[in-house]
Amino acid sequence: MNTSTNNKSPGDPAEGNSAEADGPLLPEDFSFSQGSLQDFQDCPRRFLLRHIERRPYPAPEAEPIRLNELRKERGVRFHELLCQEHSGVPREAIGRMAAGDEELETWWERYTYREPVGEAAETYAELPLEGEVGGYPLIATFDLVAKRPDGSFEIFDWKTSKHRPGRDRLASRLQTTVYPYLLVQAGSWLNGGESISPEDVQMTYWFAQHPDDPVTFEYNDYQKQVDEDHLTDLIGKVLARTERPHFEKTDNEDHCRYCTYRSHCGRGNQAGNIEDGETYLEEVESLEANLEDVEEIEF
Ligand code: SF4
Repeated sequence: MNTSTNNKSPGDPAEGNSAEADGPLLPEDFSFSQGSLQDFQDCPRRFLLRHIERRPYPAPEAEPIRLNELRKERGVRFHELLCQEHSGVPREAIGRMAAGDEELETWWERYTYREPVGEAAETYAELPLEGEVGGYPLIATFDLVAKRPDGSFEIFDWKTSKHRPGRDRLASRLQTTVYPYLLVQAGSWLNGGESISPEDVQMTYWFAQHPDDPVTFEYNDYQKQVDEDHLTDLIGKVLARTERPHFEKTDNEDHCRYCTYRSHCGRGNQAGNIEDGETYLEEVESLEANLEDVEEIEF
């Protein structure tokens, strides 16, 4: 993570030129999520703008704009279909909901053909959990948690992006850290009130556009401790930034290509193209992310 404060914008309170720089920065009721922690890890300034100042998006995140919106809408619809699937809605009815959108129908057919969830005693779709780290709430909404007949748990996350990130990239994402950690910390009610052992948890990313290449991460007690240290360290770094200028812009301008604050930060007016790729992870990959976006836009 960088510590520079380059590319200052005159009059920007984030640069310390305004009375807005005084006062507490994190609201008392602030909850951390994998999304906000990922923003902080990628760019502390983005965390400030999006999660503390809650500024509306001044620029498109990717070009072509309409194509990007359609992909995001389709991704949300796919998550809705799978939520219906695990809420007991007959597949025939779900298939009818997908009808009319050729790509969505294809994703749904791939899902029903591969059956990526496999045998489960119970499944929980769009499952919200709240835990705690560093004295703050840590929240997430899981696409799916499957409880196996042997009592183990598998977290599923549905990805609809065209590009499938490599295993190392997924391993470095905060989602891979937060979800298993939170399930172990806050999921005992799914286990009859008994603590869930980290060794009984794994997490799988399933890709609608790469259905034969899911990526699974095993979990264990050692990894849980590593994750807890990492999350505590990250939140400590957020709390140590007591003034707006402390939330520096990233030095890695790859993060700016798909960031909606480009013009605000003086990091270019042209959005990255969604066809370019590899670095573009669609932000709206779950209903949770979609709801977060709606809230931010309305604010
Ligand atoms: S445009 Fe770049 S520097 Fe500005 S918030 Fe986004 S990622 Fe950070």
